Amino acid sequence: MDFLRPATWAEALEVKAERPGAVPVQGGTDVMVELNFDVHRPDALLDLNRVAALGEWGAEEDGRLRVGAGVTYARLIAELGDRLPGLAQAARTVGSPQIRNRGTVGGNLGAASPAGDGHPPLLAAGAEIEVESAARGVRMIPAEEFYLGVKRSALEPDELIRAFWTRPAGGPQYFSKVGTRNAMVIAVCSFALALHPAERRAGTGIGSAAPTPRRAVAAEEFLAAELDWDTGRLDPGLPRRFGELAAGAASPIDDVRGTATYRRHAVAVLARRTLAWAWHDLWKEG
Ligand SMILES: Cc1cc2nc3c(=O)[nH]c(=O)nc-3n(C[C@H](O)[C@H](O)[C@H](O)COP(=O)(O)OP(=O)(O)OC[C@H]3O[C@@H](n4cnc5c(N)ncnc54)[C@H](O)[C@@H]3O)c2cc1C
Repeated sequence: MDFLRPATWAEALEVKAERPGAVPVQGGTDVMVELNFDVHRPDALLDLNRVAALGEWGAEEDGRLRVGAGVTYARLIAELGDRLPGLAQAARTVGSPQIRNRGTVGGNLGAASPAGDGHPPLLAAGAEIEVESAARGVRMIPAEEFYLGVKRSALEPDELIRAFWTRPAGGPQYFSKVGTRNAMVIAVCSFALALHPAERRAGTGIGSAAPTPRRAVAAEEFLAAELDWDTGRLDPGLPRRFGELAAGAASPIDDVRGTATYRRHAVAVLARRTLAWAWHDLWKEG
């Protein structure tokens, strides 16, 4: 197996063009597990750790944050927790400190597991994924178009993930996850909510309760129309209906982590819970 170590982004793209079968490695927390268990035996690994640009983040002219694919969960929590609270909350639930010190949102996107904790907050915030190839240049993919199936994404074999783009939170954001224990656990299901009060709308993301991470669009439309954005009064039936609509957007399966029935029920609970937290935050100052 060849171990390819480009020093720059341009070089990494050239190598990926020449060797589309080369498997990129960032933190290695997914790749190394699969190698150790002999899930794949690629003829080349493409180590991206020398590409310094992937570890950078910054604010762009349009106000959005561009976060390099190599920014670790630990850095995201420490450096961007105030601007991306939903994603940071999800990041805090990933693995253990060791995994958060190595693992990245870029790698979560590359793996495209329906259970990846980074996906629901990216969907709720309306993030875009920047991917690039040497042949065709940059492509911006809205998060909701990125996930195509179980561990399948819109990334072409000659492309690499450069960054994700998202606006700093304009309102409360929450992520909640059900697992079989508190830490080091793959989500049985998860839910993210982002309120955008200036636009009087909400974004959502469901994890681990469908073949791909996905939005609960009808639930979002319901909140935009029915939340009392002027006074903050919360009709007691509203969170329940929101939960039902969120659960209706899920299409879970029975597996070792939980049944479809349990997952649908849990998505409804998580949706109600995140709405209660977010709405309380929005109105607590009066
Ligand atoms: C003990 C343990 C606990 C874990 N707990 C969780 C958890 O709670 N929640 C969770 O979501 N995940 C968890 N994971 C999975 C893993 O840590 C995450 O998916 C993490 O985000 C992967 O990031 P990475 O940088 O390590 O990716 P890597 O392992 O380096 O790569 C992951 C995938 O992305 C591809 N890739 C990486 N970078 C790029 C790029 N720039 N362009 C294109 N493709 C790329 C790789 O080829 C590979 O297919 C856990 C893993 C372990 C071992």
